[in-house]
Amino acid sequence: MTIQLEFITLQDLVRGEVLDPRDPRYAEEASAFNTAVAHRPDVVVAAADAADVVAAVRWASLNSVKLAVQATGHGAERGIAGGVLVSTKRLRSVSVDPAARTATVGAGARWREVIDAAAEHGLAPLNGSSSDVGVVGYTLGGGLPVLGRTYGFAADSVLSLDIVTLDGDARTVSPAHEPELFGLLCGGGQGLAVVTGMTFRLYPVALVHGGALVFEGRHAEAVLRAFAAWAPTLTDAANAALRFLRAPDAPGVPPELAGRLTVHVAFAHVGRGGERALAPLRAAAPVLLDLVADLPYTEVDRVYSDPDQPMPFLTGGAGLVDLDDRTIRAVLALAGPDAECLLPLVDIRLLGGAMASDDARTASAHGLAYAMHAVGVLAPPVADAVPGAIAEVLAGVAPFGNGHCPRNFLGDRSDLRPAWSAEVADRLAAAREELDPACLFAR
Ligand SMILES: Cc1cc2nc3c(=O)[nH]c(=O)nc-3n(C[C@H](O)[C@H](O)[C@H](O)COP(=O)(O)OP(=O)(O)OC[C@H]3O[C@@H](n4cnc5c(N)ncnc54)[C@H](O)[C@@H]3O)c2cc1C
Repeated sequence: MTIQLEFITLQDLVRGEVLDPRDPRYAEEASAFNTAVAHRPDVVVAAADAADVVAAVRWASLNSVKLAVQATGHGAERGIAGGVLVSTKRLRSVSVDPAARTATVGAGARWREVIDAAAEHGLAPLNGSSSDVGVVGYTLGGGLPVLGRTYGFAADSVLSLDIVTLDGDARTVSPAHEPELFGLLCGGGQGLAVVTGMTFRLYPVALVHGGALVFEGRHAEAVLRAFAAWAPTLTDAANAALRFLRAPDAPGVPPELAGRLTVHVAFAHVGRGGERALAPLRAAAPVLLDLVADLPYTEVDRVYSDPDQPMPFLTGGAGLVDLDDRTIRAVLALAGPDAECLLPLVDIRLLGGAMASDDARTASAHGLAYAMHAVGVLAPPVADAVPGAIAEVLAGVAPFGNGHCPRNFLGDRSDLRPAWSAEVADRLAAAREELDPACLFAR
């Protein structure tokens, strides 16, 4: 069915531009960080301010037209076909209240802008592994931060959300105003309402002791076993992950990493004692590259060194309840030095600490000890084999989970229920039914 859009009417309602596929700027505006995903909406609204977002939502709702929102496209999992895509990438305002230790952002802000603004006051936000990711999309998915063990899921630090629902009602929700909807948005929020602004807590962190210890792939078993023994001894000040990296032999890739398997322990410690806490891991095997230092929080991206250039990728995630001997053997068989693994990254992030909150919250670790995710690059010659390779990893570790996985690590799944407890998933489904009975919102 072809949707007849009243372009002129929509343009009349917004200050920003309304771009259709004939416009040379359309492709750039609709593009996503994940270049494997091609969005083909009927129009893109390049919102110039929050009022544009509200107007576009009202217009889509009145005309019963499909609606999607994009800030960066880091979370783009499948292409949008038809309807309206609201692009928030210009709405990058950030203001920090140092006395209250809070930040208020526009819908398109990225973590980099918040990190820099907060650092001027010795404060830090609960960003994830890449500061290029959008604040709102990440937080609506729960937000598993670099400092998650110390301060919890990002969604649990949200104080209020400015939203517009599909009935066109724009308002602020918080624990005091519409607590049920606010709570559901903070961790399950994609597809419930469009967020036009968000206020959240910052934390007094000016620097972390962190970075990565890199080991040769042949030491994978020794490092993984040391990691498994070490992780449960850590205090909440310590945050860690173990990563199997198969970097391409390509220009710009450090020679120590290029074209082979290396194993990385990512580490970020708040306050004193970081060096002492990491010592057992340094002794696990000969260290190939020691990239750990006292880092100003503005350099927190050095903990994970995620790619910052758009690329075509597919991800999938699972949870692990433990890293016992059976799980270790399964992980090594799937991603270790003897595995024929074509995935450049298999990442095992330590949960627990302040994330070990109860299942009643929308963002929850569900009793998992680790969140695992696998990333494949959808480029020749392996592109066709990537979905199968990710499925193989997820199936291989499934016996060692409990069916749950944090939302942002789930990847492209038609069923997102593993992100929530059954009770929360039911409440989310009921809220979606009530707020979007015509299923206009892309999910
Ligand atoms: C390199 C990389 C590193 C990552 N690291 C982490 C990590 O450490 N921890 C973690 O938890 N996650 C991480 N993620 C996952 C990331 O948080 C999600 O992909 C998230 O959805 C990205 O949000 P975005 O706004 O940047 O992306 P977008 O693709 O722009 O948005 C993602 C989705 O969020 C929703 N959305 C965006 N803006 C709005 C809005 N204003 N109102 C309503 N809905 C909206 C839409 O449904 C949209 O489809 C990482 C992803 C990548 C690619």
